[in-house]
Amino acid sequence: MTNRPEDPMSTRPDPLAHLALELDELKAARLYRPLRVMSTAQGPEVVVDGRGVISLSSNNYLGLADHPRLKAAAVAAVADYGAGSGAVRTIAGTMTLHEALEAHLARFKHVEAVLTFQSGFTCNTGVIPVVAGERDLIVSDQLNHASIIDGMRLSKAPREIYPHRDVDALRAILERARREGDAQGRPYRSILVVTDGVFSMDGDVAPLPAIVEAAEAFEAAVMVDDAHASGVLGRDGRGSVDHFDLHGRVAIQVGTLSKAMGVLGGYVAGSQALRDLLIQRARPFLFSTSHPPAVAAACLEAIRVMEEEPELLERLWENTRWFKAELSRLGFDTGASETPITPVIVGDSAAAIEFAERLFAEGVFAPSVVYPTVALDRARIRTIVTAAHTRGHLERCVAAFDRVGRAMGVIAG
Ligand SMILES: *Cc1c(COP(=O)(O)O)cnc(C)c1O
Repeated sequence: MTNRPEDPMSTRPDPLAHLALELDELKAARLYRPLRVMSTAQGPEVVVDGRGVISLSSNNYLGLADHPRLKAAAVAAVADYGAGSGAVRTIAGTMTLHEALEAHLARFKHVEAVLTFQSGFTCNTGVIPVVAGERDLIVSDQLNHASIIDGMRLSKAPREIYPHRDVDALRAILERARREGDAQGRPYRSILVVTDGVFSMDGDVAPLPAIVEAAEAFEAAVMVDDAHASGVLGRDGRGSVDHFDLHGRVAIQVGTLSKAMGVLGGYVAGSQALRDLLIQRARPFLFSTSHPPAVAAACLEAIRVMEEEPELLERLWENTRWFKAELSRLGFDTGASETPITPVIVGDSAAAIEFAERLFAEGVFAPSVVYPTVALDRARIRTIVTAAHTRGHLERCVAAFDRVGRAMGVIAG
């Protein structure tokens, strides 16, 4: 008789015993996060773990995740093209819908060409190793997204990190890199400066005009990851390059279709040569199945809605301004945010976790973000308002923050 894994009498040692140990360590450090389960569509009012709450937790900035036009486009695509795409893009998985989406995105972004990926995450991990190799240098903001960090890890290029949003430090790195070259003293073939457009934990915006000037002074290319700027900054939500009027000066723009666009996917916008080379080399593009037709169709419809319903973006910013002003009026520290991401700093990790639990009991769903994601004493509640929130929703949220903040001594009163 062999021991089967489910045999309770098994005496064979568990070769994966370290998994349970690691879980115990996470739980002891209070870093273990159970999944919250939603039983409704994404929107301002959701049911989470069986409880009706107002959500300040999603990246559904424009309310597109449940928009009737996107849903209709997805349903029609299923009827016409089926549920799945059946192959990777480079074999048989490129449908007219995928190409139509890319062509429309290229016009929207005012670039030569766009290539879509399965997600923003795979876009960064796919693009960076292709663009930068052994003979190049990558220079990256200290607080860039995990997918940029992983993209750099997958690249053979050496890398330098500059302190968050510190353009003087960036300049110094570029100056030295051009003067000294690589570890063997050879000049770098190219230098790539990479930054988030909007940083996801603080909601602050990259100083893109100054970054572009520094890069141009040292003949470096700029790559901006606009995951949290897509659909949020710029005309009709075209992103941070449009917001700062830097068209033609940022070589690579990454965007996501998963946040404000309400569906799923990532894309890279740039030159035709960039797109053509990525199709030959980017590993998630080559070795992972393309988007189902419904995803591509809904994304395409999302851009049309953004162009045809500008009031969504206006409402997003109106709600953002009102909500930030109310939290400040109550005395909360809302950090350096300039976008719909508003952190509410509450202190240490335990305080932030308790604050989120109390908000949830008050019917407001907003996550705590704690060390090591943010500094030890800067643990916070991270809120994102959307265009779909009514003033009534936000008033109820502000009232809950007021009650919990005073009860916990985060604000006076
Ligand atoms: C969310 C995010 C991503 C990942 O995008 P997905 O489409 O969700 O995979 C990449 N970069 C940044 C800066 C992000 O905030």
